[in-house]
Amino acid sequence: MDHLINTEQLDRKTVESLFTLADSLEGVRNNSLSGKILATLFYEPSTRTRFSFESAMARLGGAVISTENAKEFSSAAKGETLEDTIRVMNSYADALVLRHPEAGAAERAARVSSIPVINAGDGAGHHPTQALLDVYTIQKSLGKVDGITVALVGDLKNGRAARSLVALLTQFSSISFTLVSPPELKMGSDITDLLTKRGVVFTETDDLSRGTRDADVVYMTRVQKERFPDVDSYERLKGKYVLNRSSADALKETAIIMHPLPRVDELLPEVDASPKAMYFKQASYGVSVRMALLTHLLS
Ligand code: ASP
Repeated sequence: MDHLINTEQLDRKTVESLFTLADSLEGVRNNSLSGKILATLFYEPSTRTRFSFESAMARLGGAVISTENAKEFSSAAKGETLEDTIRVMNSYADALVLRHPEAGAAERAARVSSIPVINAGDGAGHHPTQALLDVYTIQKSLGKVDGITVALVGDLKNGRAARSLVALLTQFSSISFTLVSPPELKMGSDITDLLTKRGVVFTETDDLSRGTRDADVVYMTRVQKERFPDVDSYERLKGKYVLNRSSADALKETAIIMHPLPRVDELLPEVDASPKAMYFKQASYGVSVRMALLTHLLS
């Protein structure tokens, strides 16, 4: 693997070896990537992805050069193309983590880059490292991934985290999906076609309680405000699903609740005390999973 652009590049064997590596790197601070430089180039806001990549690199003794607002603070503001920026960054760093508002941007970057490009989210496209840490969270919390039922809830049309998670889970066996969304925010046909092609069972519904009743994993997502053409269409859809403590309690006893975060109003803080709430643990796993990926790509 030279670049990580989408989950299609990750087969089960690679995923499992990254997880074994992540297990061994939990809590570790060493100098295995000493002398290496990671550039984090973010054209869209981020808390977890950027900081956990930077924390991962620091824990492995590497250095980070960064812009958190490349739209304004890189030469993009002067009209430089993404391709030119990437070509130049190639002589400053050993790997590049890119977040960009346009789907396909990471692939464009990889085409002109001789250093590894890691897609940290490209518009409503893909978010492969989120999918890795999500599957890792499932493995750690349930002790298995095969055979589970996963309900994904919310903006499945624009949510790259949900899209990448579904795609990555097709590497595992006997997973069934319930896709819970309003009709306007249904999962794209590129992903549902992939499910059909791989013989994966899925159902679609707009009913939150029916859709989550039998799930082992309930994956909540926010309505992706930044992908809407106007505020009104966003406002119309944003309050559609709310997971509160009583709906959390009504889930299967052994179910876990995940969310890529940030949450807005779809997952109430009163759920945090539930033993099913796994989203902060999920965010914390981002560090060791990204340490494993950086080790895999750079050492
Ligand atoms: N943090 C995730 C992402 O960047 C999820 C979200 O923003 O809703 O895709």
